[in-house]
Amino acid sequence: MITEYQGVWVFIEQSEEKIEHVSLELLGAGRKLADKLEVPLAGILLGDHIKSLGQTVIAYGADEVYLIDHPVLKDYRTESFMKGLIFLAEKYKPEIILYGATPNGKDLASAVATDLSTGLTADTTMLDIDLEKRLLEASRPAFGGNIMATILCKKHRPQMATVRPKVMKALERDDQKQGKIIEETISLSEESMRTKVLKIVKDVTKISNLADAHIVVCGGKGMGDAKSFELIQELANTLGGAVGGTRDVVEAGWLKHELQIGQTGETVTPKIYFAIGVSGAIQHVVGMKNSEMIIAINKDRNAPIFDVATYGIVGDAIQIVPMLIEQFKGALIEKGGEKTYA
Ligand code: FAD
Repeated sequence: MITEYQGVWVFIEQSEEKIEHVSLELLGAGRKLADKLEVPLAGILLGDHIKSLGQTVIAYGADEVYLIDHPVLKDYRTESFMKGLIFLAEKYKPEIILYGATPNGKDLASAVATDLSTGLTADTTMLDIDLEKRLLEASRPAFGGNIMATILCKKHRPQMATVRPKVMKALERDDQKQGKIIEETISLSEESMRTKVLKIVKDVTKISNLADAHIVVCGGKGMGDAKSFELIQELANTLGGAVGGTRDVVEAGWLKHELQIGQTGETVTPKIYFAIGVSGAIQHVVGMKNSEMIIAINKDRNAPIFDVATYGIVGDAIQIVPMLIEQFKGALIEKGGEKTYA
């Protein structure tokens, strides 16, 4: 019976006793859904030596934490994590489970959906509740990003979604918040696991600090050519920010694919985002629209990027960017042996 299922769950991804930021963002999003439904929000912690993380999950918004601490859960593996999560879901019957759209989150969510014979919306960028029907509305760009599709799971429970990192906002940490930690045990043995983790090799292919940068300077096709695009790098260097680009810039070979921002690239939420010679196509905007301040430079005053910009400069970027570089360089001062802005 669908009505037996209650509560909103967030799968908490962690490694080396540190919670991934996307899980904190999902606790923020899950809090809103749980409040609307008037049900508790729970965080699901699976791992080895993870009990100390329970209070952090509560501090970021959860009312409850379901926890399984077991040596076999030390490193992520589909089989062991799936067993843990399915055990909890069958016992406590949540109506919604959210996962980060990370490699492990996506892997686990799809395995759990198959085993529980329920639906899964992948790569969601918006979540809401239809209160009347008590349904999760999971929205994501579809048909090449031309429309937003809202996907419902009407007949099966739990309703599940993976959510892109950096799209939702984490709540402020509140260490006074009280919650309940429910510890469960399951029988797992290393011998029965079909896969063994022999070694973990850190991902060294990520050459950018794009996702974590406070300032991102993004250049678009409007920069004209690879040579002029170097102005984007120079502005980023001057500001101590990271460089990004649109897909068209990547396709033109002016920038590495890892630095593409948008639906098929990175999602960024810096404090300041410069969009220079960027038209503002929806597939680009979904990857940057949550930046705190957006400064757009475009020679076309009707360019869609101005619809999401905090400040807009209408003009030729090739002339404006060197002026900005000069002005910012002029504003640099020496402080404690380092260059900074006044
Ligand atoms: P353009 O659209 O060509 O815009 C150039 C802009 O520069 C114009 O607004 C023009 O007015 C301005 N301009 C020209 N000269 C100057 C000048 N001298 N000074 C100032 N302004 C000037 N795009 C992404 O970015 N990221 C994605 O992840 C992504 N994924 C996609 C996925 C799919 C399935 C599809 C179909 C498309 C995707 N796209 C993506 C492509 C997207 O639709 C746009 O084509 C792309 O974002 C446009 O890039 P642009 O703004 O650099 O170029």
